Order: sequence, then structure tokens, then C-alpha cells
Amino acid sequence: MRESSLELILLGPPGAGKGTQSKLLEVRYGVAQISTGDMLRAEVKAGSPIGLEAKRVMDVGGLVSDQLIIRMIGERIAKPDCAHGFILDGFPRTVPQAEALDKLLHETKVDLDAVIELKVDEVVLVERISGRFTCAKCGAGYHDRFKQPKQPGVCDVCGGTEFIRRPDDRAETVHARLEAYRAQTAPIMPYYAAKNRLYSVDGMAEMDEVEAQIEAVLRRVGVQAP
Ligand code: ADP
Ligand code: ADP
Ligand code: ZN
Repeated sequence: MRESSLELILLGPPGAGKGTQSKLLEVRYGVAQISTGDMLRAEVKAGSPIGLEAKRVMDVGGLVSDQLIIRMIGERIAKPDCAHGFILDGFPRTVPQAEALDKLLHETKVDLDAVIELKVDEVVLVERISGRFTCAKCGAGYHDRFKQPKQPGVCDVCGGTEFIRRPDDRAETVHARLEAYRAQTAPIMPYYAAKNRLYSVDGMAEMDEVEAQIEAVLRRVGVQAP
């Protein structure tokens, strides 16, 4: 085992808590959180060619092409802030993406510590997604019922006062995203189970309880928080 390094994948359907947990783990373990969804939204906002291509697919709840995503991730994990590892949130989402990641990691002689699946019932997912909003300035995540800012209208993290809701969090798109998860993403679980890397955590629990369960898995695989 390499010291103070963490290579982790958080897996789970939309609304399972991947973003929430990976941001907590980023602070606790001091490694970069990488969200392909956030990266794509930044491209959309910038109006880049990647953003224009991605937007068409994201708007209808589908998955962006493997080719585009794999290239984006390859460039991202080569950056210096990933020297001590990363927490992948929302990638891989298809078997070809998982295979491409294996190839990338093999080339750099890095091994995954764990792939942790957050298990959440579908009714709860819909409730979580429909109440989700984030700080426009720093991206901190909130929820209408489950996580309001401590002071109403003011971000706990940065003091920002503007909040945004994702266009694809509308009820019409959520159904398509859940279907994409079932059809295209769920098949990567047997892939990682066969490699003895897959662990499951009860994502229905309170946020800090979910975090504690993830940390317990990481201790089991020999990763200690610094
Ligand atoms: P959530 O966290 O709610 O599951 P994300 O922010 O991860 O959503 O992703 C939002 C959208 O971005 C997805 O519905 C999909 O269109 C696109 N996307 C994100 N990551 C990937 C990926 N690894 N492969 C293909 N499409 C992706
Ligand atoms: P994902 O990245 O998997 O799509 P998020 O982390 O954005 O999911 O969580 C979706 C919504 O549910 C957010 O509004 C978040 O505040 C809320 N949430 C996350 N984890 C929990 C939890 N354990 N209990 C209740 N609400 C949660
Ligand atoms: Zn903020």
C-alpha cells in the first residue's frame, strides 16, 4: 500500500449522495474530488465545443459519449493535484469507461482502493433530486428539506447569497437519468465485484452516518485518514 494516497470511486444513481460525500472525503483525506458532471457543467457554462455537445445529451438525461468523457478524465487525473489520488464522483458510468480507467491506472501503476456503491431507494432519490440546490459561487450542496443553509439564504461555506438549481433536476429528466443508470451504469458493479473492489453502503442513512460507513470501508482496505 502506498502511504497517504487514496484512489476511490463513489458509485450510485442520481441523488444518491455522491457529491455530498465526495466533498466531505476530499477535505478529510486531502485528495481531489473529480466530478465529471461538474466538469461538463463548467464546459456548458463556458460555451465550449465540448459544452455544446454535452448539453444536448444532458438536457434529456442521457449519457455523454464515452470517448469525450474518457479524454476529459485522462487529462484531469494527470494533473498535479491528483498525485496523491482522487475521489471519482459520477465516473465511470459505463463498462467502456471503467475499462478505459483501468488502462489509465495500469499505465501509471496505480491501483483502486475501493469502489463504493451508495444504495438508495428510488422514491427517496426523486425526493432528493427535486429538492437539491447549490451555492452559485462555491458549489456547496443543499436541500430544501434535508440540508438548509444554517442562516437562510446564505451559503455556510462561502457566505454567497445566490443559489442555483440544475435544469436536469426537473421531474421529466429525472426519470430518463434513472433509466440511464439502470441500463448503462449498474452493469459496472459486477465488473468491479469480479475484481474484489466493490463495497456497498446504506445511502439512506443521515449524511454523517453515510460518511462514517464509507470511512469504515476505507479502513478495511487499509486507507487511513491523514
Ligand atoms: P448526478 O450526480 O445527479 O448523477 P452528474 O452531475 O454526475 O449527475 O451528471 C449530470 C449529467 O452529466 C449526466 O446526466 C450525464 O448526462 C452527464 N455525465 C456526467 N458524468 C458522465 C459520465 N461519466 N459519462 C457520461 N455522461 C456523464
Ligand atoms: P449525487 O451527487 O449522487 O447526485 P448529491 O450529493 O447532490 O447526490 O445529493 C442529492 C441531494 O440530496 C442534495 O440536495 C443533498 O443535500 C441531499 N442529500 C445527500 N445525502 C443525503 C442524506 N444522506 N440524507 C438526506 N439528504 C441527502
Ligand atoms: Zn458557497
